[in-house]
Amino acid sequence: MAVEQFRLKTCVDFKIRDTEPHYILVKKHYGCYSLVGNQEIADQVLSVGDGCDTVDTIEHEFLHALGFWHEHTRPDRDDHIVVMWNNIQTDQQHNFVKQTFAESTTQGTEYDYKSVMHYDKNAFSNGQGETMVTVLPEFQDIIGQRQEMSPTDVLELNSLYGCSKCSFFFFIIQHIYKCDLIRQNESKVTDSNFKIQANFGKKCVFFLMFIKQKVFKDHLCKYDEPDNYVKVKI
Ligand SMILES: [Zn+2]
Repeated sequence: MAVEQFRLKTCVDFKIRDTEPHYILVKKHYGCYSLVGNQEIADQVLSVGDGCDTVDTIEHEFLHALGFWHEHTRPDRDDHIVVMWNNIQTDQQHNFVKQTFAESTTQGTEYDYKSVMHYDKNAFSNGQGETMVTVLPEFQDIIGQRQEMSPTDVLELNSLYGCSKCSFFFFIIQHIYKCDLIRQNESKVTDSNFKIQANFGKKCVFFLMFIKQKVFKDHLCKYDEPDNYVKVKI
């Protein structure tokens, strides 16, 4: 399921190892963990231990392996969250140390409270209170969401691996229902403006998938709330 999410939303795919010298070895160790990025070693272990076999956790660990750090350790995180150091277990404070700009892989995306790579407000608390407080209070209970990759996670991953796939769903429809997909205006750089045409004697059946109630707006898959609608012309 998690792998399907990567295939559906990004250009990242996974295959069974053949003779590749560097590869991810998924093991059932204690806990859920992964190293960050390609370490260029054989047997780079990614652990899916007991309680880790949920879509969000597997996505989280594979995003580590693909080069993602935790969202709350971004170099610019202090503009968005306040880390309550006195409330963090002493031996877990390393989990809140910021990355440098050189290490960062944010791809120019804005800070994402909804990232599947963000810890929740009570992560590693010593019992004295919350360990992170969001600058925008409405996100205090949002951080640590564990449903699936956020739209910005997807954007960031696609940027990191050099692909722009916000029209991917339409290509799947084209494949399944054998509809012709024609870009409305080739000169305009947009993936949201398509003409879908049925083959002779065939019906086109399509669905629209909304992510967080928003529609892809431009070729970078950014979202724009005021344009939150779909126009269908027949
Ligand atoms: Zn993690």
